[in-house]
Amino acid sequence: MAWDFETDPEFQRKLDWADAFVREEVEPIDVLWGGLEFTPPDATLRAVIDPLKERVRQQGLWATHLGPDLGGQGHGQLKLSLLNEILGGSSWAPVIFGCQAPDTGNAEIIAHYGTEAQKETYLRPLLAGEIFSCYSMTEPQGGSDPALFETRAVKDGDEWVLNGWKFFSSNARTASFLIVMAVTDPEASVYQGMSMFLVPSDTPGVNIVRNVGLAGEPDDEGSHALIHYEDVRLPAEALLGGEGQAFAIAQTRLGGGRIHHAMRTIGLARRGLDAMCERALSREVQGGRLADKQFVQGYIADSYAELMQFRLFVLYTAWSIDKHNDYLKVRKDIAAVKVLMPGVLHDIAWRAIQIHGALGVSNEMPFHRMLIGASVMGLADGPTEVHKVTVARQVLRDHEPSDDLWPTQHLPKRRAAARAKFAAVLEHEVGNL
Ligand SMILES: Cc1cc2nc3c(=O)[nH]c(=O)nc-3n(C[C@H](O)[C@H](O)[C@H](O)COP(=O)(O)OP(=O)(O)OC[C@H]3O[C@@H](n4cnc5c(N)ncnc54)[C@H](O)[C@@H]3O)c2cc1C
Repeated sequence: MAWDFETDPEFQRKLDWADAFVREEVEPIDVLWGGLEFTPPDATLRAVIDPLKERVRQQGLWATHLGPDLGGQGHGQLKLSLLNEILGGSSWAPVIFGCQAPDTGNAEIIAHYGTEAQKETYLRPLLAGEIFSCYSMTEPQGGSDPALFETRAVKDGDEWVLNGWKFFSSNARTASFLIVMAVTDPEASVYQGMSMFLVPSDTPGVNIVRNVGLAGEPDDEGSHALIHYEDVRLPAEALLGGEGQAFAIAQTRLGGGRIHHAMRTIGLARRGLDAMCERALSREVQGGRLADKQFVQGYIADSYAELMQFRLFVLYTAWSIDKHNDYLKVRKDIAAVKVLMPGVLHDIAWRAIQIHGALGVSNEMPFHRMLIGASVMGLADGPTEVHKVTVARQVLRDHEPSDDLWPTQHLPKRRAAARAKFAAVLEHEVGNL
């Protein structure tokens, strides 16, 4: 019997270490340097974070999901999931543990599709935490439908010339390189007509027009760039994977990215629940604690049940990825987890706000960021509606239409079939009456 919900004691010790480390050493950095996670650190910040990264390495927890050939431990997705629950409540922790989005997904596709030279130039410093990267796919006129992408890369002798616009390219302003998806064969389908390119950020023609902020952030100081690629000349070696392979590469990248977001979301939502419980136990109204009011108990019970349900599904999906070693084989469950994620975080954040009253909506508590985070989780790496379509299609694949006017579960039909099956017994019984 292989089902087991225990974490092996050795890894549990590492998780306990990580939990204390994040709370004591990393969360104070969130408070002082939040927002600078993806900016190359200055000398002051380096003096703070480099020793912490070293302690993570000594614990064998740096980039834990990657194989030893890539500088990780090869622990896989299930262990990463347990670790990410701890890291997800802190903005700096993923960077200090070498498993931050979007770099993890970008590293994964370079490891999978890159040449040795590309790995040396981009992957090695990325995994060492020396540089940051950007994934540049969404375009202003359409993000969820790749058939609408217009950015073109055209061959000119030994070079490619890239032209077009990209939107919401996260961390472009601080990334050392961008992975850009472009149409290379407009006659082919989206599955074969696009290619992926590795573009150093300082290549002439890579123009960041503005850095869009999320709601509540100042104008042009956000981290999601609108980029105009204008006659960007790239050598043939800039192509990542084969020509026409971008769609397949994107699927590899997004499969991992989506489940990693879900793992971190558990951690964030748990913070909301913890805060809710603390407040409920601390605050008095009408002669009793909030914790003793049934409406509040309902908020807490619903939050706990939804979080546990989501957590188990995420862990199961991570376990399945490890088992199959192939995101595509687990596509249905990754998409289903993606569908659930915004709702779980939103509902817990909303209840945490409500229980905290006016303080809850203020910028002195972290809940409004969780609410925006919930909306982000319903969009980044594809909108909820598109993932629902994926889930439904995959579920329907395991079913057949009825070859009869009446459904298989139609009770009169089942009764008739049962009577036919037991005809001899039934006749005997009638005969004995
Ligand atoms: C914080 C954040 C970070 C991001 N980072 C990156 C990044 O680093 N790189 C990158 O390339 N992109 C990034 N994105 C962009 C993200 O991938 C897109 O927002 C997403 O794919 C949706 O595209 P869109 O915004 O153009 O919305 P649209 O494609 O215009 O869709 C808008 C809405 O239409 C509805 N819809 C769309 N398709 C369907 C359908 N088939 N059926 C029913 N309804 C549908 C949905 O409600 C959807 O939300 C990021 C987004 C966010 C919010």
